[in-house]
Amino acid sequence: MAEILKGAEVTSALNIRLKQRAEALKSKGITPCLSIVRVGANEADLAYERGAEKRCAAIGAEVRKFALDEAASQEELIKLIESINADKSIHGCLLLRPLPKHMDDNTVRNTLCPEKDVDGITDQSLCGVFTGSGRGYPPCTAAACIEILDHFGIDIEGRHAVIVGRSLVVGKPLAMLLLSRNATVTVCHTRTRDLKEQCRRADILITAAGRAKVIGEGSFSPGQTVIDVGINAGPDGKLLGDADFEAAISTSAAVTPVPGGVGTVTSSVLVKHVIEAAERSAAL
Ligand code: NAP
Repeated sequence: MAEILKGAEVTSALNIRLKQRAEALKSKGITPCLSIVRVGANEADLAYERGAEKRCAAIGAEVRKFALDEAASQEELIKLIESINADKSIHGCLLLRPLPKHMDDNTVRNTLCPEKDVDGITDQSLCGVFTGSGRGYPPCTAAACIEILDHFGIDIEGRHAVIVGRSLVVGKPLAMLLLSRNATVTVCHTRTRDLKEQCRRADILITAAGRAKVIGEGSFSPGQTVIDVGINAGPDGKLLGDADFEAAISTSAAVTPVPGGVGTVTSSVLVKHVIEAAERSAAL
């Protein structure tokens, strides 16, 4: 039976360290501050906003919320982001996406300066992940996977990591983060021919396909760690991961649950990036 890698455990340990760093900043007169920019009011965005607010409150970071009407123009949104870029008291910005259809995602997201891009959405942040330049921040979900592996003492160096999914939010940046930690990385996608075989060969299997239980029986192997990024609604409305949890726990060595795994750690990583941004601005 596999060990269950609970996200709450990672978050608790992370929060203790982040609180100390926030207090050190406050003693220098700096309050770490996250701005949240939302267009419209869809429930998924509001839920993410509430989660980020709760995490920030827990470690003593300030949150400033900016909500635009669903019908706001792209120019209004760009102006708002530019004002956030120029405001020295704001250290990070979370732009909730997807944006309404009348806005061009590329233009809007790349208006944000990489120094405040705490969720790794700009091309410059992603470039930083690929070059290792340290410019900007990696997407929080990709970074949360590394945080979980580190917390539970799972070695990355020299091990074979297999990622299912190649999106810019999870798969691709995560491949670079794992490579920078000296893993040997395989990235799978819908055209991968022998997916089960690839998954079985992994020491660390990370699933980010967005399809409930798509990684099933015959995809797992003994000794393996499974990090399940997927969040999918099951037929009864309950959340399910990409991995068949029962099959994974009966074969692998360690598995993250859904819910209560990667998703729990992601918003704490966001706060970590805000603290880092505040520390970097203090150093300047
Ligand atoms: P996405 O943009 O839809 O990308 C999905 C990727 O998975 C694509 O590269 C796709 O391959 C691949 N894929 C889909 N079905 C596959 C299959 N049957 N076999 C092999 N590969 C397959 O999704 P995303 O934004 O990366 O998100 C992935 C999942 O993570 C979703 O469930 C999402 O809700 C979840 N998520 C969780 C968090 C969190 O905090 N825990 C954050 C973000 C996302 P192709 O490129 O060939 O199409």
